[in-house]
Amino acid sequence: MLWSGWGDPAKAADLPEPIRKLLHEMLGVRPPRGRAADFGEVRLPAVALSPLVLTELRGVVGADHVRFDDDARIRHTRGKSTPDLLRMRAGDGSDAPDAVVLPGSHDEVLAVLATCAAHRVAVVPFGGGTSVVGGLVATRQGFAGVVALDLARLNRLVAVDRESMVAEMEPGLRAPQAEQLLAGHGLTLGHFPQSFEYATLGGFAAARSSGQASAGYGRFDDMVVGMTVATPRGTLDLGRAPASAAGPDLRQVILGSEGAFGVITSLRLRVRPAPAERVYEGWRFESFAAGSAALRRLAQEGTVPTVLRLSDETETMIGLARPSEIGALAAGAGCLAIAGYEGFSEVPALRERVAAVASGLGGVYLGPGPGESWAHGRYSAPYLRDSLLAAGATVETLETAGFWSNLPRLYEAVRLSLHASLGSPLVMCHISHVYGTGASLYFTVVTAQADDPVGQWEAAKRSVNEAIVTAGGTISHHHGVGRDHREAHAVEIGDLGVEILRGIKDRLDPGGILNPGVLVAPEKPVS
Ligand SMILES: Cc1cc2nc3c(=O)[nH]c(=O)nc-3n(C[C@H](O)[C@H](O)[C@H](O)COP(=O)(O)OP(=O)(O)OC[C@H]3O[C@@H](n4cnc5c(N)ncnc54)[C@H](O)[C@@H]3O)c2cc1C
Repeated sequence: MLWSGWGDPAKAADLPEPIRKLLHEMLGVRPPRGRAADFGEVRLPAVALSPLVLTELRGVVGADHVRFDDDARIRHTRGKSTPDLLRMRAGDGSDAPDAVVLPGSHDEVLAVLATCAAHRVAVVPFGGGTSVVGGLVATRQGFAGVVALDLARLNRLVAVDRESMVAEMEPGLRAPQAEQLLAGHGLTLGHFPQSFEYATLGGFAAARSSGQASAGYGRFDDMVVGMTVATPRGTLDLGRAPASAAGPDLRQVILGSEGAFGVITSLRLRVRPAPAERVYEGWRFESFAAGSAALRRLAQEGTVPTVLRLSDETETMIGLARPSEIGALAAGAGCLAIAGYEGFSEVPALRERVAAVASGLGGVYLGPGPGESWAHGRYSAPYLRDSLLAAGATVETLETAGFWSNLPRLYEAVRLSLHASLGSPLVMCHISHVYGTGASLYFTVVTAQADDPVGQWEAAKRSVNEAIVTAGGTISHHHGVGRDHREAHAVEIGDLGVEILRGIKDRLDPGGILNPGVLVAPEKPVS
C-alpha cells in the first residue's frame, strides 16, 4: 500500500497530457506549486511513550510486535481520505502514533488494553487503514501517548459451520484473504466495497460497511451473527442464535462503534455458496429521475439483482469520456444503470423479471458491455484519485442515504452546497445501494486545488455535512462517523442520542483510552 496514496505503487500512473489539458480547460486545474514529499521527508513527532510502557507492551505481545520505527509509524498515520493523502503528500506526519502494537490473540488484546489503561495511553484499533472519515486519528490531549493496535496477526478462518452457513473469522483478515479462504470451502461473504483490496473484516464491522453487491448479499452488518469484543472492562461475547428477542441487540452497539467501545477480535459471519454464474449488464434511462423510479420499483417488488446502481447524467457523461466500449450510450447519454447477477439457476429468470420492469419504465437494454466494463474497473477509481491529486485536482467522495420520497431534495441539496463552496466543481453522483424504502447517494467531486487544498476541502465538507442533515439525510450510509462526521452525527441523533453513546463508552472504557475523539466527543476536554 502506498504510504501517501492508494494501493499497489506499481499501479500508479501519470495522467495523460490530453486529460490534464481538459482538466485545465474545464476546471482551471494547474500543476501543484510544490512537489510531493518523499518518504524520508515526512515530519514525525518524537516518540512520546516512556521506556517503561514500551517494555510492558513488549512483555505482552513480544518484542517483534511492538514497532516504533518511522516506516511503521508513517504507515499507520491517519486513513485514506483525500485530506489524509494531501497531508501526507505535504510531509505532515503530526498524527503518527508513537508505536504500532500487533497482538496475536484476544487475550493479548485484553492485556494491551489493561497496560494502556494503566498508563493512560490512547489506543487506535487499526484494520486496513482505509477509513475516509478520520477514524484513525486519536485526540492526544490528556494521554501519555498513542498506540496503533494493528490487528493484522488476527487473520485466521477459525471454523466453518456448513450446516448453519456461518464462518468464524478473525478481524485482521483483509477482504481478498477472507474470500480466498472461504473459496476453499465453496463459500463467499459477498462483501465487495471499493476498498476491497486492503480493508479488513474488523474494519467492515466497526464502520458498518456496505459493498457494491449489497443489493444481493446485504450490508456487512447484516452478515454479522456474532462477535467477540475485548474492552478495557473485559470480554463481550455476543450473538448465539439467528434472531433473538432477549432484550436490545447488543451487537448493534458494537457494529458502527469504530473502535471507541471495544476491539472486535472475532466475527461469526453469515456466508453464502460461491456463485456459479456472474453476469453484469447495462441499461440506459432517459434521466436520473426515470432511472430512480425503475430502481425503486425493483427494490419494492423484491426483484433485486445482486448489484444495482444508477449514475446521474454527469457521471454517465464522464464515464463515456473514457475510451471504452460503451459507445451505445454516446448519443443523448441519459443515465447508465448497472445490474449484476451472481448466483445459480435462478439467474436467467431474475434477469427476465428485471428486464420486464426496467423496459416497462423506459429502460433501454445495452447488453453486457457496460456491465463488464464496470466490473473490470470496479477497484480502479482510487488509483485515478492519486493521479488527479498529483496533477493539481482535488477529488473526493461523500455519501448519504434517504427515503425515496426525499431523495431528489437530498441530491439537489448536496449539489447546491458543493457548487456554493467550490465555485464550479465537477459533481457526479450515483445511487449505490437500494432498499425498499430508499437508497444511498454517492457523490464524487473534482475541483482545482487551491493554495491550501486541505482547508479548501474541509470548508466545503463542513457545509455539505450541514446541507445533508438539514435536507433530512443521514450523515453516512457506509463510511461511518469518525471525526469528520462527528458534529453532523450529533445533530442527527440529538443530545440524548449523544448522551447514550457517551454513557456506553464510559461503561466499557472508563478511562476513555479507546479511539478518543472518534464517534463521540468527550463530555469535557480531557486535561
Ligand atoms: C478508496 C476507498 C474506497 C472505499 N469504498 C468503500 C465502499 O465501497 N464501501 C464502504 O463501506 N466503505 C468504503 N470505504 C471506506 C473504508 O474502506 C471502510 O470504512 C472500511 O470498513 C474500513 O475498513 P479497514 O479495515 O480499512 O478499517 P480501518 O480504516 O483500519 O478502521 C476503520 C475504523 O474501525 C476501527 N476498527 C478497525 N478494526 C477494528 C476492530 N477489529 N475492532 C474495533 N474497531 C476497529 C478503527 O479504529 C477505525 O475507527 C472506502 C475507502 C477508500 C479509501
